[in-house]
This record gives sequence, structure tokens and C-alpha cells, in this order.
Amino acid sequence: MTPFDVAHHSKPAATGPTLIDGFGRTVRYLRVSVTDRCDLRCVYCMAEHMVFLPKAEVLTLEELDQIASSFVGLGVKKLRLTGGEPLVRKGFMGLVESLSRHLKTGALEELTLTTNGTRLAQFAKDLVRFGVKRINVSLDTLDPVLFKSLTRGGDLAQVMAGLDAANAAGLSVKINVVALKDTNEDEIPDMISWAHGRGYDLTLIETMPLGDTGEDRTSQFLSLAKVRDTLSSFWTLTDIPLQTGGPARYVRIEETGGRLGLITPMSHTFCEACNRVRLTCTGVLHTCLGHEDEMDLRAVLRGPKGLSGLEEALRLAIAGKPEGHDFHISEGSAPTLARHMSRTGG
Ligand code: SAM
Ligand code: SF4
Repeated sequence: MTPFDVAHHSKPAATGPTLIDGFGRTVRYLRVSVTDRCDLRCVYCMAEHMVFLPKAEVLTLEELDQIASSFVGLGVKKLRLTGGEPLVRKGFMGLVESLSRHLKTGALEELTLTTNGTRLAQFAKDLVRFGVKRINVSLDTLDPVLFKSLTRGGDLAQVMAGLDAANAAGLSVKINVVALKDTNEDEIPDMISWAHGRGYDLTLIETMPLGDTGEDRTSQFLSLAKVRDTLSSFWTLTDIPLQTGGPARYVRIEETGGRLGLITPMSHTFCEACNRVRLTCTGVLHTCLGHEDEMDLRAVLRGPKGLSGLEEALRLAIAGKPEGHDFHISEGSAPTLARHMSRTGG
């Protein structure tokens, strides 16, 4: 594949200070997966015996900085660092510190991360020092036994200690919960009460068919329309007109006073307002989570033009951003997309 093997439907790349795609959407939000590695093995995300990428294929921290900074130079206002587990990457806090220069200049409005929380106790204070204000922590259950089985070996106490450290450091927290049929389904109301009681937002996510995990997708899938119906039978849910350019819809639960997000990529379309793109830890830019469209930015950076070829490549990739996604889960089917979420970045 050459660096410029983007979608055949690419339109001429726009010029100007911002990145605008062929459907008039301005790209403001970049998610960067800084590693495919993780200290957990969540059943819906990874196979039990994952084969991780050779280090040479993964972008160096300097390359990650160069690509993210180019995006900021072209109008991206929000950067989310993810993985794999971002906090397991050696030198990760150096990247956060380096990227925080864009917060100081005002070019970047938000620098944030999505983490499983296991190492937050160690890093929460530094995150705040480098300008991070809010983080997403993924946590699917408050039951230590279920946590251990869902993550294939994780220790819930570590995450709880991480959350305490985040509170003490003054970080705002949003809890991400993947809704799993017959697994954490009955616990969802308790998790919402717990999160709202601690002042956290909570977002429920439907499973997406990304990568082979060795688990049956159809048996895991739980429709959030069904969850919403259940919650509505004992709580008052009021829609909030909060638009983030992503797949989440928000409601306020009057009884808890907290906010609940619902991410339903499988059952609703959210593409018309999509303002985001994703960079994998190997430097592949995906302009849509649900398509195989990609551009190899590592090849650009490590090629003859180096850093000077990056802006042209970014514009070309954005010009080819697809109009919408085409996920589906059908019984016994292979994952719609072969890549794992841990490589693409959730
Ligand atoms: N390790 C970090 C964490 O767990 O927060 C960051 C990376 S993880 C891939 C990002 C998010 O993707 C998590 O909230 C996780 O629950 C979600 N995720 C992973 N695989 C998924 C899948 N197949 N469907 C829906 N969400 C998924
Ligand atoms: Fe690791 Fe996050 Fe995937 Fe769980 S969801 S295996 S914590 S990358």
C-alpha cells in the first residue's frame, strides 16, 4: 500500500487553515491510539492470547507528537489519547507534557484520554499538571469477580484506587460502560446510581464488531433502546440537546441529577455530524470507524518527504472521509472489520 492509497471516491483535497471533508464536515477531533498493548484483556475487545505488534511498527512518541501537532495546526481542537491502554506505554507522560504546549498557546482546547484506570493512582496528578481536565475511565462492573472475568484477570481494587486518585487530583471523570447482554445488564442501574453519586457522567456503549475476540458477538449484543426502556420504567429520562459530533446521545436522569450518554453505533446513524478521525498506533489514519479507508502516515513520515509531506497527506485523507458507516452484527458472521478496537483506539 502506498501512503496515498485512500478511498477511490476521494475528492480534491481542500486548502485553507482547517480540514474540511468532501461532505462539508470540518474535522475538529482526533483520537490517537498510542499503543496496542494493554494490561487487561476485556472479552469484547481482545482475544485472550493477543499477538501484539512488533515495536518497530509502532510510531515513536516523537512521530505521534508530529502527527497530532500537524492536526492541531490544521484546526483540530480536541485530542483524545487512547489505546490499548495509554498509561502502559513507556514515556507516555512525556507525550502528554509535550502536547500540552498546544493548550498553552490556545490552539488546542482539550487534551484528554480514555483509560482503564489501573494506573491512574500513579499518573492522575501529572495528568492534571499537564493540562488534562477530564478523562474517560472504562469500567463495566462494580463486582470484583465479574470484573476479573470480563477483563480476564483484572483487579477492580486498582481501578477504584485510580478513581480516588483522579478525584483527589481534581480530574472530571466519565465512566464508559459497555452494555453486555446477561453479563452486566442487570447491574446497569446500580452503576448509574454509583457514578452519579460520585459526580461522574456515565456513558453506555453498544458492542461493536471490531476484531476477532474469540467471543460470540450476537450473544454479547445488548440494544440500548431496550436498556433505555428498562431505565424509563423507574426513572425519568429527559433528553439533553448536547451534540458532540459523535455517536453519543445524552439524557438527564431526574432522580439522580446526573447525565447518561448512550452510544448506539449499531442502531442509529450519527454520521452527518461526524467531526472526528482516528490514528492507530502504527500511524494509519482512519477517517471513519466503520470503514476500511485508511492512509499510512507512518510511511509518509518515514518516506522521502518526511514531516514536510504530512499536511498534503492529511488533506487528501480528509477529502476521502466516507459519508457514513456500515456496521452490522449478524449471527455467526465474521467481525465487520478485522481490526481490533485496541489498535484503532476506542
Ligand atoms: N484501554 C482503554 C480503556 O479501556 O478505556 C482505552 C482503549 S479501549 C479500546 C476504549 C474503549 O473502547 C473502552 O471504553 C472499551 O470499553 C471500548 N471498546 C473496546 N472494544 C469494544 C467493542 N468491541 N465494542 C464497543 N466498545 C468497545
Ligand atoms: Fe484493554 Fe481497554 Fe481493550 Fe479493555 S477495552 S482490553 S482495557 S484496551
